[in-house]
Amino acid sequence: MHIIFVASEAAPLAKTGGLADVVGSLPGEMIKMGHEVRVIMPYYRRQIDGRSIPIRHLADMRVWMDGAERLVPLHEAEINGLSFLLVEQDELYDRPHLYGPPGGEFPDNPLRFGLLCRATLAAAIDVIGPVDVFHCHDWQAGLLPLLLNEQYRHFPALAKTATVLTIHNLAYQGVFGADWIGRLGLPSHFFHPDGIEFHGYINCMKAGILAADGITTVSPHYAEEILTPEYGCQLEGFLASQAHKLSGIVNGLDTSQWDPITDKALAAPFQAGKMAGKAACKAILQQRLKLEADANAPLLAVISRLAEQKGVDLLTNNISGWMDAGHQLAVLGTGAPYFEKALHELADKYAGRFAFHAGFDESLARQIYAGSDMFLMPSRFEPCGLGQLIAMRYGSIPVVRATGGLYDTVADYGASPSAATGFSFESATPEALAACVASATDIFVNKKPTWKRLQGRAMRRDSSWHASATRYAELYEELARASV
Ligand code: ADP
Repeated sequence: MHIIFVASEAAPLAKTGGLADVVGSLPGEMIKMGHEVRVIMPYYRRQIDGRSIPIRHLADMRVWMDGAERLVPLHEAEINGLSFLLVEQDELYDRPHLYGPPGGEFPDNPLRFGLLCRATLAAAIDVIGPVDVFHCHDWQAGLLPLLLNEQYRHFPALAKTATVLTIHNLAYQGVFGADWIGRLGLPSHFFHPDGIEFHGYINCMKAGILAADGITTVSPHYAEEILTPEYGCQLEGFLASQAHKLSGIVNGLDTSQWDPITDKALAAPFQAGKMAGKAACKAILQQRLKLEADANAPLLAVISRLAEQKGVDLLTNNISGWMDAGHQLAVLGTGAPYFEKALHELADKYAGRFAFHAGFDESLARQIYAGSDMFLMPSRFEPCGLGQLIAMRYGSIPVVRATGGLYDTVADYGASPSAATGFSFESATPEALAACVASATDIFVNKKPTWKRLQGRAMRRDSSWHASATRYAELYEELARASV
């Protein structure tokens, strides 16, 4: 099949979170299965140029949008056999951030990602030829299925194309003023509560849910959760009306990219059963982060966007308690300024035991996964989460809230010690997190052989894309058959 992934970010070209990892790695697995897959995304010149990746100009397209016809050049970068199509529009995409300044959004985001959708359709018509499936990711690609169905079906290249929308995070829906209907050229007769309207605004995720042939989300548990008021972000009722096309497929990892045996960012390689390198990574991490050199102190880690979703307040409430108990903590993250400020203050107070690095740093992230003993994800909600999958591969035992993909991927010690790969807790409170870290610490400190077995199981867990890519391929085939 000929499949195009439509997304606002993809590793290794531009990444702010797990979406980029998924879009950058799932296609590789599909290609191994014999499918032809491309990724199309904005050409973020500032993030992409200067990495010595050869970029080839493919064509100049014309896209009508916001009252004007725009010249939209299309480029291609090939990385590890995967073709990334880059939509050039410097005025919209050549900026210091992908979505907006920290904690904010660019006001023209509907235009930026509306253009991505129309440029994708134009690319299929003018440049690439017939497409079997558009796999759209999150609200930024949400308008594509609707535009396709309403305005582009008469083009032979798109007459039979099926669409899948994957919801990576329902909390971000792309909600904008109704004036965008005209500016983006959306079919205005869909502006009603059973269509793309959302309390007087347009909602790009809702447009995708309405018009896509299939909807997936990134874990089975999250697929159930989003049908409830607690997790549905006010779309639970609408999603329920479309539940017949909803399924949950858990994310995988590119296991060749995340492997402590070959990871070039690490000072020493290690693997299950040969863990001397991990002890060396811990010592070097303590040195780099100016933590006290102490092989026995339980070293907790967090690598995360600093957003409410991630339960940062549950962490900050516990830091003094962990410091008193002799733990060390390393936090790498960027996001809401008030969280950054609170973490900086605590790091000053507990210098030598708590290190906070504000920013996005892939190589430091790898060193923290490798050098830490436990990896904390106290998320209020977590559609899938990749941090816990990476942590398990690097022998850092996840301590997570039992929600969404964390529930699906971390086998809790409390439920079955002999099958466990981590620890989980239910309620989103500082006390529940503290109790869970205390249980994990008890085993880390007092039951070394049990900890080793737990670590071995976590490291050997199959987090590859294989099983999930097979499920996506089955879904594509089913939808493509239905659309013939
Ligand atoms: P989300 O997509 O909600 O941010 P995920 O757990 O799905 O969360 O994915 C987060 C990804 O981003 C992981 O690969 C993680 O290692 C990475 N990451 C998050 N914050 C940082 C950071 N500050 N520096 C480096 N990598 C980060």
